[in-house]
Amino acid sequence: MNEHRRRLLEQEEQTRKQGLKNKRMARMLIAMSLFSFSLCCLVGVMITIDPLSLKEEDKADRSNLPATVSPAVEENDEWMLILVNRDNYLPADFTVDLKELGGVRVDYRIAEQLQKMIDDAAAAGIVLTPCSAYRNVAEQRALYENKCADFRNQGYGEEAARIYANRYLQPPGASEHHTGLAIDFLTTGITELDESFAQSPAYSWLIENAAKYGFVERYPNAKEKETGILWEPWHFRYVGQVNATAMVSMGICLEEFV
Ligand SMILES: [Zn+2]
Repeated sequence: MNEHRRRLLEQEEQTRKQGLKNKRMARMLIAMSLFSFSLCCLVGVMITIDPLSLKEEDKADRSNLPATVSPAVEENDEWMLILVNRDNYLPADFTVDLKELGGVRVDYRIAEQLQKMIDDAAAAGIVLTPCSAYRNVAEQRALYENKCADFRNQGYGEEAARIYANRYLQPPGASEHHTGLAIDFLTTGITELDESFAQSPAYSWLIENAAKYGFVERYPNAKEKETGILWEPWHFRYVGQVNATAMVSMGICLEEFV
């Protein structure tokens, strides 16, 4: 009887051990499966967000675009249509990342197109010399006060001097030069920013070609009423290639466009 009981106990013990072994095995298999699955997920995610593979994809997409289309036109173009004038002062929280180009500073996002425009003009025998681009509010204030002083020196009173100065310059905070998207050009034989620029081959070339690079003549002769600024044939503004082409074909200025 004891012998029989002992065998039964041994059998029970063996079954229990086998059960434990099976359970351990099963747990190990589950753990290994989970680990492999996680590894696959991780590798998958890494491949998806790999910045290098993203860049390659980007390059491939962009390569289909015409050479003159700025990458910027595909993105949200609010920034390139910002309207700054006497009715629309620069927002208090406005910031811009600048890039130095030909002795002036511009919004880094337009530097490539601007350089391309200058280079292509040069290849056509046209000299475009950047004269003034980004200006901070303090620099604009100095220019504006100088202009007012000019008129006061010519005998105008304080109020009249300011009214006349306003026709040439925006008051500090109201100039689109604060945006880094505007640029004044000089060219061969033209050393002052005045209407003689309009007689230069550079002006004709710009009128013909600037929109291809995303630039427009910002204060045209016929738009003084809309812009509030006298004709400035030397002042060009980046609005993006698509917008520039549309504005030129419709014959409208930025005030009318936005
Ligand atoms: Zn200007």
